[in-house]
Amino acid sequence: MQTVIGTCHCKAVEFEVDLIDGFENIRRCNCSLCSRKGAVMAGVTLDRLRVTRGADVLSLYQWNTKIARHWFCSVCGIYTHHQRRSAPNEYGFNLACIEGVDMASIGEIGRSNGAAQSLVPPEELP
Ligand SMILES: [Zn+2]
Repeated sequence: MQTVIGTCHCKAVEFEVDLIDGFENIRRCNCSLCSRKGAVMAGVTLDRLRVTRGADVLSLYQWNTKIARHWFCSVCGIYTHHQRRSAPNEYGFNLACIEGVDMASIGEIGRSNGAAQSLVPPEELP
C-alpha cells in the first residue's frame, strides 16, 4: 500500500489517500456540477482518505438530493474531494491535487455519466 498526499492550491487543506493498486476509477463526470469543475477524479473507499489539515476551512456544497457531499477550500476555492451519491461508501478526489502527479501522463480517463442520474424537481425536494 502507498499513501499519497493531496493539497488544495493555497495548501490550507491537506489530505492523505491510501492507494492499494495505484489510482483507481480515473474519470471525469458530465453532471452539471462536475462539468463546470472539469476535474479529473479518482476513487477510494471512505476509510482510505483522511483530511490531515484544514478541515475547518473546507466548505461543503450540496445540491438537488443533497446526498453527495462536495468539499472545496474556502480560501482558494479548489475542489479537493467529495462523497459520492451513487456510491456513498466512496470518496472521489481531485487527482490534480495529489503531489507528484503529472496530469499530462495520466492514461485513459473514463467518463462517469452523472448527467443521467435522476434529478429531483425543486417542488419535490424535502
Ligand atoms: Zn486552499
